[in-house]
Amino acid sequence: MTERDVDTLPGVGPAVRKRLSRLGLRTVGDLLAHRPRRYEHPVDERSIVELHGDAEAVIEGTVERSRSRRRGRLHILTARVSDGSGEVDATWFNQPWLERQLVPGVRVRLRGKPNRYGFQVESYDLGEATETADFAPVYPSSEQLEQKRLRSIVASALPYARAGGDPLPALLRQAERLPLRADALTALHHPRSLEEAEMGRRRLAFDELLTLQLALARRAAEREQLVAAALPAPGTLVARYRQVLPFTLTGAQEAAIAEIDADLGRTRPMQRLLQGDVGSGKTVVALYALLRAVEAGRQGAMMAPTEVLAEQHLLTIEGLCAELGVRVALLTSALGAREHANVRRLIASGDVQVAVGTHALIQREVAFHDLAVAVVDEQQRFGVEQRSALAGGRAPHVLHMTATPIPRTLALTVYGDLAVSEIAAPPANRRPIVTAWVTDDRSSEAYERLTRHLAAGRQAYVVCPLIEASETTLARAAEDEAERLRRSELKGFRVGCMHGRLNPGDRRALMAQFKAGEIDVLVATTVVEVGVDVPNATIMIVQEADRFGLAQLHQLRGRVGRGAEQSYCLLVSRRKEELTDAARERLEAMVESADGFELAERDLEIRGEGQLLGARQSGLSDLRFTKLRQDMDLLERAREAARRLGDAELLADAVGVLLGEADHLGDS
Ligand code: ADP
Ligand code: MG
Repeated sequence: MTERDVDTLPGVGPAVRKRLSRLGLRTVGDLLAHRPRRYEHPVDERSIVELHGDAEAVIEGTVERSRSRRRGRLHILTARVSDGSGEVDATWFNQPWLERQLVPGVRVRLRGKPNRYGFQVESYDLGEATETADFAPVYPSSEQLEQKRLRSIVASALPYARAGGDPLPALLRQAERLPLRADALTALHHPRSLEEAEMGRRRLAFDELLTLQLALARRAAEREQLVAAALPAPGTLVARYRQVLPFTLTGAQEAAIAEIDADLGRTRPMQRLLQGDVGSGKTVVALYALLRAVEAGRQGAMMAPTEVLAEQHLLTIEGLCAELGVRVALLTSALGAREHANVRRLIASGDVQVAVGTHALIQREVAFHDLAVAVVDEQQRFGVEQRSALAGGRAPHVLHMTATPIPRTLALTVYGDLAVSEIAAPPANRRPIVTAWVTDDRSSEAYERLTRHLAAGRQAYVVCPLIEASETTLARAAEDEAERLRRSELKGFRVGCMHGRLNPGDRRALMAQFKAGEIDVLVATTVVEVGVDVPNATIMIVQEADRFGLAQLHQLRGRVGRGAEQSYCLLVSRRKEELTDAARERLEAMVESADGFELAERDLEIRGEGQLLGARQSGLSDLRFTKLRQDMDLLERAREAARRLGDAELLADAVGVLLGEADHLGDS
């Protein structure tokens, strides 16, 4: 029932349908799940004679007469309203169509504030109290679709909440003391108190968390069926690898490696998450795992979410692999058709020992000769092993890597089905990055500082503003900025420009040049956010840093501070008075902390709810109602319930309903 298109609701025609769809609202179910941002606070109902000061109030009365006038572009509509105790002139701005409705004798209920001229209306009802009700929902809306309209559309969807019964088995619902889902939805959209709204939200959050946990459990069960080949104990190749590395591995890296070794020795495919802050040294560990496959006479694959990142991974590992005599190939869509086919053939024959590419490419286009270990960077936690298993008969061992700093408790939610290795401490030679926040008027000092680093033989990044524009516009803006800098602040230095519109060959050449020190400064869009690893780059300027999210800033900053030198990150923004509170708090947090986990927590606080970095990849973005910090108890209960449900076949139907909703999880 909730699959019904929104246009089946009264008053929703093609135009409104389109505006709704811009808000992501396509079905009645979407409307029901449109969570209010907040609720109107309660205000007193007063008689007109009792109105005083500028205290917000609700009044009710009858229209005596109305008139309208214009002042410039402002349309002002005034209605004299009386309630027996007195009269007041109520005013509306820019709602000319209302004039026809405010005819003498009409009953109105108004919420607003007394002002010099009478009563300034914030919301009104001509019939039943909905708009003016206490705790009226305030939805994420748009300019094209005003709040009042959206409220009435959601209200007209609400009866469908009762259709189709409750997805939770009654026993479970009672045991958890949860309201019916329909009641929860009603409470969410039409609460009589904030407590009621919160109770509704928690029931909906429980459903979400349970769905997620069931999906994880199902995925884990599917994996139980898979069989991998156990790899023999570590051999000479990885021993040589340790020798050619220009540093010794840290304790945390060694611990992760020991855990991986233990996994690889089993016939149950490894499903391990390697978690560590940016720059903590995960890639080094990942390559170790790949080499374990190679020394067993088998193959490894490294999959990245984007081509840029895949190229970057190749740059990181190809030197080492060459030294070790390991044959590596990059498979990208940029290869010509013949070359592409050739690389695929070499992978299929086993001549290529380690293949690097995007998730999509490797999973869709490649049949491996004998894939034993897959490293999956930052995405797509599901699906890899199944597909590869079909191809080769045996499932590979999978190591997932993430720099998403999800607090440990939360990791349980999203990675509940994976074993976790954490690299908590960066290599000891690191000095914490010094982060400073400077405003526009002093940006020249930032560039002076940057050029001092360049003069001393170091390299730098300048990150271009994040604008809401097409990739092409963004690329052009970056090129223009690079050109401007070449002529002004960075005159005399070698400036390269990197963006998403460069063709992969050029991009690779550029990265190689930067790595080789043939370019001093890389002016870049956020494509440098992940993976780029040039230890000689010691300073970064982020332009218009107030536009970036906290997590993104942290990722960007992780591009410097990768060597033993002191590194700097300079965040340039508009003047503080011009920034939103949230932007100010983000920049302050960046200056105060370099710890990804702490920043993730701060991010949650600033945003007030459950959107974290990597939310999309991790399935967390499906959590609309859950407030991760607040709902830890619910998470535990949902895990427990998922375990119990998992055991009871009797409940399969109900579970099926929930899982039906969860099917898209992980496919993103
Ligand atoms: P991540 O993938 O976690 O962001 P990387 O593996 O790319 O981190 O490592 C970041 C940088 O630190 C690289 O330049 C790498 O060579 C270096 N590095 C990794 N491990 C160590 C170590 N044990 N000692 C010193 N430097 C290291
Ligand atoms: Mg890395």
